[in-house]
Amino acid sequence: MADWYLTVGLEIHVELATKTKMFCGCKNDPFNSEPNTNVCPICYGLPGTLPLINQEAVRMAVKLGHALNGQVAEQTFWARKNYFYPDLPKGYQISQSSAPVIGEAGLTIDGQSYGIERAHLEEDAGKLTHPAGSDYSLVDYNRAGVPLLEIVTKPVFTTAESAKQFAQELQRILRRLKLSNADMEKGEMRCEANISVSQTNDLGTKVEVKNINSFRAVEKAINYERERQIKLLEGGEEVEAETRTWQDADSSTRLMRRKETSADYRYFPEPDLPLVKLEVSERQEHRLPEHERQDLIALGVDSVTAKTLVDRGIAEPILALGDAAQQFAKIYLAYPKALELKPEFYQKLVAVKQARRPTKDQLVNIIDKSVETKTDPSRVATEILGDGGDLEPLVKQVLADQLQAVADYKKGKEASLHFLVGKVMAASQGKASIQQVRSLVTELLKS
Ligand code: ZN
Ligand code: MN
Repeated sequence: MADWYLTVGLEIHVELATKTKMFCGCKNDPFNSEPNTNVCPICYGLPGTLPLINQEAVRMAVKLGHALNGQVAEQTFWARKNYFYPDLPKGYQISQSSAPVIGEAGLTIDGQSYGIERAHLEEDAGKLTHPAGSDYSLVDYNRAGVPLLEIVTKPVFTTAESAKQFAQELQRILRRLKLSNADMEKGEMRCEANISVSQTNDLGTKVEVKNINSFRAVEKAINYERERQIKLLEGGEEVEAETRTWQDADSSTRLMRRKETSADYRYFPEPDLPLVKLEVSERQEHRLPEHERQDLIALGVDSVTAKTLVDRGIAEPILALGDAAQQFAKIYLAYPKALELKPEFYQKLVAVKQARRPTKDQLVNIIDKSVETKTDPSRVATEILGDGGDLEPLVKQVLADQLQAVADYKKGKEASLHFLVGKVMAASQGKASIQQVRSLVTELLKS
């Protein structure tokens, strides 16, 4: 039987970290406030109220558009998306349909680019809670009207893993640009996945899975749905176009409703808001995690280490070391306290490691002491390892013992130099400076 191909597109809602809500002056703080305290007649959609566009939210959307190399609309407008649900006080959501603020864009991870269809602004709904064992529900409208950016990818993912990586990378970017805290557990970032399988080049019927609330769940939900659909098709049944919900409790998806089409929402232009013209400003360059990773890799740092350094937010000081970056990264991974040195000592620590070849314990000692006393690690190294003693007698002794290697070197065999340097280092029990040894050996060999 032919292989099954998986195709996934993501729709990711992100709560923007503005001070106030999308269309009113209420505080944007749905987590730390008493229920229904950050609300006003606009939030409730009371008759006679008028929404007002939050410029900060629009600027944030444009910022992400620039960072993702996206098309920023010259003008954008709003639409009403009509549906009934108790968390939606107005009976409609102000969103954007045919004029999203960001058009086509892309996100690159480890050199692989993923296409984004669009990103548009809208408002969040309130939050419903269903107290266990009760016959009522509670609603908190603090979240109603919080600015959302909805990012819609193209159907570009062929594995659950790559979809998860995309969501994680988007979170890194949102945090770095200070657009959102994007904490999935808090619902600041919420994923929906459109999933289909096929054995041909044509896409299969897609199923939308909602309520995916962690990165792990992104991967698990896609893999679960892939298996479910393949099983249906291999059993001669069809996949229904429907909306399902991810259930963390038993790691499965469950039918929510047959899929609505956009016609069901009866989108129409929002009559209470003006067209927004966006000045075509200089595209701002943003330094993204991908840039840092690629720059580290270019300096010889392996990709796994590069990822770790970027995720810990310490790529830049290490990149500043240039050729010494890889060596410092190695020291850092072995003993993260190295990072607590004054940055101007990073390079010196690398030099100490290369010249003095300390053991792991000695290196840890040097770092500890250097951090503690804020002293240059090469001075600390001298205290701990000694100054290497008087080298000349040691070198002369080794040259006297290794006549064959000396003769080979004089005939032009370069490797003999390394061999002799190694012998001297061993004789000094690692205490000598390798640079000093090398220059002294070279000098004495000439004589
Ligand atoms: Zn309000
Ligand atoms: Mn939406």
